[in-house]
Amino acid sequence: MRIIDFHTHLDGRWFDAPLLDQASFMAGMDRCCIDRACVFTLMGFYEDTAPHNDALLERAAKSPGRLLPFITVDPKLGDAAVSELDRCIATGKFRGVKFHSWVQAFAPSMVKPTMIAILERAAEADLPVLFHDGKPPYSTTFQIAAAARWVPNAKVVLGHAGLADYVDVAAQMIRDVENLYGCVCGPRIGDVEHLVKVAGAHKLIFGSDFGLSDWMIIDDRLDSIRLAAITDEQRERILWRNAAELLKLPLA
Ligand SMILES: [Zn+2]
Repeated sequence: MRIIDFHTHLDGRWFDAPLLDQASFMAGMDRCCIDRACVFTLMGFYEDTAPHNDALLERAAKSPGRLLPFITVDPKLGDAAVSELDRCIATGKFRGVKFHSWVQAFAPSMVKPTMIAILERAAEADLPVLFHDGKPPYSTTFQIAAAARWVPNAKVVLGHAGLADYVDVAAQMIRDVENLYGCVCGPRIGDVEHLVKVAGAHKLIFGSDFGLSDWMIIDDRLDSIRLAAITDEQRERILWRNAAELLKLPLA
């Protein structure tokens, strides 16, 4: 079965701690049979975003087709954030946008006009926008779902489908908000079954957070999908097809 990992971080370091180098990152993907991975920055959520967007693009270019880079910007900067987004979109090489509103220290409602402009630009470019979710005070699942409602033609992804405490909220919001999807990155086996039952498998996507730690996290998170009591068709949708559709990859 083909697998797309929709949530990974490919960066050189977390503060002073080195992260996996790219060779180890690719070896981890191979070992866990991951065909393609959406890659995000990590230090770009803490520092000036532009150099991190450029560095991520360079890394992704070393493994063409397998690593799909996502942009990040700092919405607290207002117009400057929109300009940086435009600059990245103009390269034609990014496949989505990622926010970690908790680490980036904004509630979406605090930067609403900027966030609406960003979501509109992303919708125009047909790029999915993934937010970290499941964590108060800035990244609750309710807050991300609210932002999705501001721009109904933007495709917004809950980066952790509720993570732990917000899984049932994620299930309800994905069911009720048409342009909201869930990246199952953290929820356990019973949670996955609940998400599928309430929200439907057609709006769920697999993700692992690989890159923050070694390949074992991929295997662990894949087990939540592999061992859930869902049909093989639902599993195929979550592991590959839904992501392929959102990323406009060939479906044959
Ligand atoms: Zn992450």
